[in-house]
Amino acid sequence: MQIETVLQRALSHASEHLAGLDNRSVAPTSSLENLRHRLGVDLADDGVDPVQVIDELVEACRGGHVGSAGGRFFAWVIGGTLPSALAADWLTATWDQNAALHACGPAAAVVEEVAGRWLKDLLHLPDPASFAFTTGCQMAHVTCLAAARHAVLQRAGWDVESDGLCGAPRIKVITSEQQHGSMIRAVRLLGIGMRDLVALPTAADGKLPPDALAGALQAHGGPKIVVLQAGDLNIGAFDDFSTLVPIAKESGAWVHIDGAFGLWVAADRRRRHLLDGSQDADSWATDAHKWLNVPYDNGIAFVRDGDVHFATMSHRAAYIAKAKGARDQIDWNPEWSRRGRGFPVYAALRELGRRGVEDLVDRCCNHARDLALGIAAIPGVQLLALSEVNQALVRFLDSSQSASEADHDRNTDAVIAAINLGGEAFFSGTTWQGKRAMRISVCNWRTSADDVRRTIAAIEKVVRSADPWCPTI
Ligand SMILES: *Cc1c(COP(=O)(O)O)cnc(C)c1O
Repeated sequence: MQIETVLQRALSHASEHLAGLDNRSVAPTSSLENLRHRLGVDLADDGVDPVQVIDELVEACRGGHVGSAGGRFFAWVIGGTLPSALAADWLTATWDQNAALHACGPAAAVVEEVAGRWLKDLLHLPDPASFAFTTGCQMAHVTCLAAARHAVLQRAGWDVESDGLCGAPRIKVITSEQQHGSMIRAVRLLGIGMRDLVALPTAADGKLPPDALAGALQAHGGPKIVVLQAGDLNIGAFDDFSTLVPIAKESGAWVHIDGAFGLWVAADRRRRHLLDGSQDADSWATDAHKWLNVPYDNGIAFVRDGDVHFATMSHRAAYIAKAKGARDQIDWNPEWSRRGRGFPVYAALRELGRRGVEDLVDRCCNHARDLALGIAAIPGVQLLALSEVNQALVRFLDSSQSASEADHDRNTDAVIAAINLGGEAFFSGTTWQGKRAMRISVCNWRTSADDVRRTIAAIEKVVRSADPWCPTI
């Protein structure tokens, strides 16, 4: 059967891809022009055999994939894919359920019910909280902040679902300058402009100072939303929730938490304290496609008050078949037709169990620390920040005696580029407190002590070869 043949081909290509992760360059090796040339064939009048389509697709993409599925990719915050999650994702595509309604895919609906319940338990979120599986944390923010907008305007006597935003009391969104851009985009999509976003400066530890929050809340009398951070992407900073959440609640604000990766430390008994007090927030956004290591796209929104969440998102139309007692995903998600996102999450959680998630988080944090300390031990490397979680920052100093900060910045970017070009490991840069730095972010289940060792050795080689005073090793 043709479909079986093509799926077998896909399996063999997939196996080859995974088997090669340890030996291929982590950085892509094909240029933009090359990929455009190879992929940009004319769309023919006649179709092509499916097996040939897949073979040629794989061939045309060769060298065009970033090795983020492997253990030596430390850029941004990108997780890998656990074996069962990958397999469940293949089956999700195979079953091809429209996970909008229970009626379109009963198993897809129930698997989300169960996965959502497990996640609340694992992440220590209130049991009655409602949830939605979204494309990513960005849309989880949209979902949570739409509920927030509904609630704070309702308290001000305004029904946003019926009357819209024109003429509504202005909502202030108060947050820290370390906020992730996805939250800002979510705010914009919800009709709140940048003029109403207050991004407060943080202390050197990346945390929002309580006085600054209290002052900003006091300065604004109208409806307010406070967005706090559980793990910022530069230094993995966690806001002091035990202090900040009560301050925000006191002033009638809705409190939302961006825990795209940081919420997962709730599963780790050694680091859970970082989230103390966060359980008292009104909504939380996280990603399964980062630290839980399921394939894209998979974010999760949680809302304490399910009635508010439902009032914001629920949808009824004459042709929608509602099953009694079932959970229809469309009542909680921003999307209509959508992928059955519960399957890979369900699989990953069963594969790992509570202990497995805890071990995954702990391992990644330890590898991040070992990487940071190992890299910082190389002459000319400055450790800028070492978090309690899976993020760290280092800077590569220019060795000339008269080097300025700008020279160190340039050198840092040059070293990052050289490391990535070498293909052994991959990192991204950032600017932190005015300085260029290399981010170390570990959230792939595959990363091993050997990956850490190989990475440090590769960086040492780059740093030494760039320094005329050090012999190349
Ligand atoms: C990745 C990230 C996001 C955005 O998540 P997406 O899944 O890419 O939409 C938001 N906040 C933080 C802190 C992140 O690291």
